Amino acid sequence: MKTLVMKFGGTSVGSVEALNYMAAIVQEQASQWDGLVVVVSAMSGVTDLLVRAARTAADGDEHTYRDIITELSARHRQTIDALITADDEKAKLQTVVYEYLEELSAFCNSIHVLAEVTPRGMDAITSLGERINARVVAAFLWQQGLKSQAVDATDLIVTDENFQNAMPLMDLTCERVSENLAPLLEDGIVPVVTGFVSASEKGVITTLGRGGSDYTASILGVCLCAAEVWTWTDVDGVMTADPRAVPEARVVPELSFAEISELAYFGAKVLHPKTIRPIIEEDIPLWVKNTFNASYPGTRICAHPEAVSGRITAITAIKNLSMVTVEGRGMLGVPGIAARTFAAVARVGASVLMISQSSSEQSICFLIPTDTAPAVIASLESEMALELARRDIDRIWAHDDVVIVTVIGSGLRDTPGVGARVFGALGEANINVIAIAQGSSEFCISLVVKSEEGEEAVRHIHKRVIEEASV
Ligand code: ADP
Ligand code: ASP
Ligand code: MG
Repeated sequence: MKTLVMKFGGTSVGSVEALNYMAAIVQEQASQWDGLVVVVSAMSGVTDLLVRAARTAADGDEHTYRDIITELSARHRQTIDALITADDEKAKLQTVVYEYLEELSAFCNSIHVLAEVTPRGMDAITSLGERINARVVAAFLWQQGLKSQAVDATDLIVTDENFQNAMPLMDLTCERVSENLAPLLEDGIVPVVTGFVSASEKGVITTLGRGGSDYTASILGVCLCAAEVWTWTDVDGVMTADPRAVPEARVVPELSFAEISELAYFGAKVLHPKTIRPIIEEDIPLWVKNTFNASYPGTRICAHPEAVSGRITAITAIKNLSMVTVEGRGMLGVPGIAARTFAAVARVGASVLMISQSSSEQSICFLIPTDTAPAVIASLESEMALELARRDIDRIWAHDDVVIVTVIGSGLRDTPGVGARVFGALGEANINVIAIAQGSSEFCISLVVKSEEGEEAVRHIHKRVIEEASV
């Protein structure tokens, strides 16, 4: 069976207009494939509102979370009113929204009483956006004459209990997919699956992390042995930089799995960083396309795109980071300091985004999200208490407000002088580089600069290494 999995992101299902574009795309593809699976995100902004409702409830701010529930109710009701014509279907969907939002209200009330929201509670709450939307989208597609059915991914994707960033257990997941999803395809039904949402083996709701609907699509693609996976979003494809930061950014027609992995890891929001992991092994091509410009081909991501010599694919940036430095003369040649440093970081569950060590071994520095910095410093100080007392380590400190700017491209490996152009661009703009790292893949160079210079750094490098290189 030739199957296509298509995922529609928040903006692609975020308004009545967008939903009409989405439905036209689904209609068109439904006749072209033996099996078609649709994965949907929550309407744009809904997940952010759900997170805020939970947080404000925990902070004792009853007004805000109640207002958010009212806002969510109005937004979904208006959408249903505008989309669905049959009165009984409309009433059914309004009841669905009412019931889910009652659930939200009950969650927020308990969080308010307990003055705390756990990661598990957060997943139960944030899953609601997708769960409501899958039902609305399925009903809308049904109305257009497609045999569609909403499917909760809690019945498909089995994960560990690492809430808010759960890891799928692929064997179990593929079993569930063949039990609960494949039969629908065989019956000619178009399943509309909730993105982002999953469940543990015990059936507790988990999520795959923010932006995780892309990952849902690739997981399902692998379990179904899909021919292709397409993610529909609000830009024409993967671009040479975030178009919001660099208006001159342009679409990259083809990318390798290796390049997109670096790009997504280093902050390009257009794909969730884990999306590639399952499909790389099965070699399933992935396309990124624009819901609002559906005739444009978009970006094709595959194992071996046509080689373009000297190619630099994209510039990305990750914001809100801190650079932690462990420094001291007594570290010189002492075995185990790096291992203990990173063990202390791991104990507080912080993820390290980049590491750089000076060759004299007198300092190790690494980058972490700023919100984890206080816990990381405390953990390091406790791990290194003896070394600090002996002055073998002089200081452990964080440089806040930094960003990692990354230049990605297969051309980095075979084109001399790209590094010089990158640093030249920063020199011209008078931007100071705080730290540097080059990945062992040689597909990327990462630089740390101050937050306020991050966007300018991206724009300048883009101009010198991408815009001027192609004229
Ligand atoms: P969706 O809700 O469809 O998943 P996202 O907002 O998660 O959409 O991702 C799409 C956005 O990613 C674009 O609107 C764009 O601003 C941003 N983006 C960041 N870097 C890039 C890039 N290199 N190429 C394309 N888009 C990018
Ligand atoms: N709705 C989720 C989020 O906003 C997942 C997604 O859109 O991919 O993070
Ligand atoms: Mg996204």
